[in-house]
Order: sequence, then C-alpha cells, then structure tokens
Amino acid sequence: MQMSRKERCLKIAELLKKEYGTSHCPLNFQSPFQLLVALILSARTQDECVNRILPTLFERYPDAHALSLSDADELSQIIQEVTYSDVKVTYLRDSAQIIDQRYGGEVPSDRMALLSLPGVGRKSANLLSVEAFGVDAFPVDTHVQRVSYRTGISLSKNVEMTEKTLCQFVPSNQMKELYRQMIEHGKKYCTAVSPRCDKCCIRLYCETCTPTQKEEQYFWSF
Ligand code: SF4
Repeated sequence: MQMSRKERCLKIAELLKKEYGTSHCPLNFQSPFQLLVALILSARTQDECVNRILPTLFERYPDAHALSLSDADELSQIIQEVTYSDVKVTYLRDSAQIIDQRYGGEVPSDRMALLSLPGVGRKSANLLSVEAFGVDAFPVDTHVQRVSYRTGISLSKNVEMTEKTLCQFVPSNQMKELYRQMIEHGKKYCTAVSPRCDKCCIRLYCETCTPTQKEEQYFWSF
C-alpha cells in the first residue's frame, strides 16, 4: 500500500529515534547569548570548528556588552578558523550592540526581533526559538533539507517550503528531537557526496534508495 508523505515522515521519525535516541544540539552553549554567537559563527562552518573556538571567545567576551565593545582585530584573531571571519566579526559586534542597547543585554525571544539581528537567518531564529526559548519550530539546515528531500518527505529544494512541510507533518513535541536526529543522520549516512545508503536505517522509506537496497533491508529486518 502506498504511504502518504506524512506517514513516511512519521515512520522515518520513529526509525531515527530508534537509531539515535536522545540527540543533543550540535553546538555547545549555556545561554541564549552563547547560542546566538555560535549560530552566527556556524554559517558555512562545521559545528566542530565553532565548538573549538567558543571557550576562548566566551572567556574574553562573556556577554553582549563585552562583545559589543570588542576590538575588531582581536575578535578576528580569535575566530580566524571560521569561514568568512571578517563578515562574522561585523555581525557579532553589531548584533551584540543591538542586544546590549535595545534589549538590556538579553537576547530577545521574539522571532521577528531575532530575524532583525545581523547574521541571523530563518534557520538560526528557529533554532534559537526551539533550543533557547522552548518555542515550537523546525530549523532546516543543509542536513535537514537534504534528508527531507532525498527521502521524499519534502518535494522542494527550498528550505522554507521544507520547513512548512515538516511543521505540518511532525507533532510539535517531536520537532526538537527530529531536527537534531536528521542533522546527525545527514552527517553520518546521508552525506552530500556518496551517501551510505547500504547502511542507512531509513532506506526502506527513502525515495532515493534503489530497489535492491530496499530488498536487502527487508531481508535483514526480520
Ligand atoms: S537511503 Fe540514502 S539517500 Fe536515503 S536517507 Fe538514507 S542515506 Fe540518504
């Protein structure tokens, strides 16, 4: 019997939960401010690289006020490992200044206010909402987009459309777990180049997967 896309999505969510259990946010943070900084740094940069830089950065600039007063050259030196570090220096200092002056040093929880901060796009605002403020949202990064599109959960390569689809299909109490598990799956198996479909736990429900691979999983699932 043909599955609907929603049924496929929920089955995949169930299998990813079995595979990865309780996943964690891939970025290390202890406050909304720290997560905001990590997210600005993480654009086109691996999470592992960002996590390496964060302890030094937060020791030197523990809050928005300190970061807003930072010396651009010194900040640039600390974050030199990340991609587009010069642009990110500007984003970090400008965002910190807005948070310090307009919001009394606290990162705002309002989504529109988050989106108005330099260096904060839709994915980052959603991720802050769900991780730092406990608000239902589905952050769609490159891994979530790739897994959603390849499996056939999303019919679109547009991240906004994929986000809408996931928000329609996934119950709100599962969004936080599922977005994390999709990221983990995208890093480990559903990689951009040479995905490891033969070892993938959701291949039976993936539209990209070949019929041969599906038969193999069918066989081994008993
Ligand atoms: S079967 Fe392949 S393409 Fe489909 S989700 Fe798994 S790794 Fe990705």
